[in-house]
Amino acid sequence: MNHAVVLVDLDDCLIPDGAAVRAAIRAVLEELSIVADEQAVDTVLAAARREWRGNPHCGHPEVQRVASWEALWADFHDLPVPEAVVRALVGNDVRAWRLALDDLDSSADAEAAALAFRRLRSALVIPFPGVESALDSLGERHELWLATDGCRSLQRAKLRLSGLAGRFQRVFVSGEVGHPKGTPEFTAAVSTALTGGRTVCFVVGDSVTTDLLLAETGGWPFVRITDELRFAGAPAFCRCP
Ligand SMILES: [Mg+2]
Repeated sequence: MNHAVVLVDLDDCLIPDGAAVRAAIRAVLEELSIVADEQAVDTVLAAARREWRGNPHCGHPEVQRVASWEALWADFHDLPVPEAVVRALVGNDVRAWRLALDDLDSSADAEAAALAFRRLRSALVIPFPGVESALDSLGERHELWLATDGCRSLQRAKLRLSGLAGRFQRVFVSGEVGHPKGTPEFTAAVSTALTGGRTVCFVVGDSVTTDLLLAETGGWPFVRITDELRFAGAPAFCRCP
């Protein structure tokens, strides 16, 4: 049994998020015959932000780390929250697209746009180059645990779509933990799971807030993913004896 654990982030570490959302929005606009330039993408993102931040339940622990662009394709139907909260969350995507299309002076159908975005965004859940082989390499000497911010339905759907779900022995999603990644409570949930002499070799992620804080609060080494250091290079940071 491997006693060293590598704690791995998901979005913009193993799979693209920021670039994928922009590409998916561009593809939606093209399908709707709307000019799909960067400004139009920004307009859609701003509308998504307005709608999501205006939702009285966007701070619920189950969804508080769901970004406004993720709320465009998260499935809120089966979250373990009161029915009134589900009702307020479901339909966020169509409302956001309606705002966006209005801002773009388009009369296109918001429901069609919302459905197209879900389809096109889902198709872009593809691991970055070299991710599988890096996980193979790390998996030889470590347990791989995933630590990700967001709601359970979307983060687990992404993991499934990426084809990487079977690689991870443990998965921590902030919505399930009840606390955001980077808080002492989230770190405590991970630490509590480090039974049987397990130690953390390193935390790897792209965020200098959430991922770095997870490492700092746990007292674990941090490997930061950047444009120069992709996850494919992460195995080189193992210092296990
Ligand atoms: Mg990330």
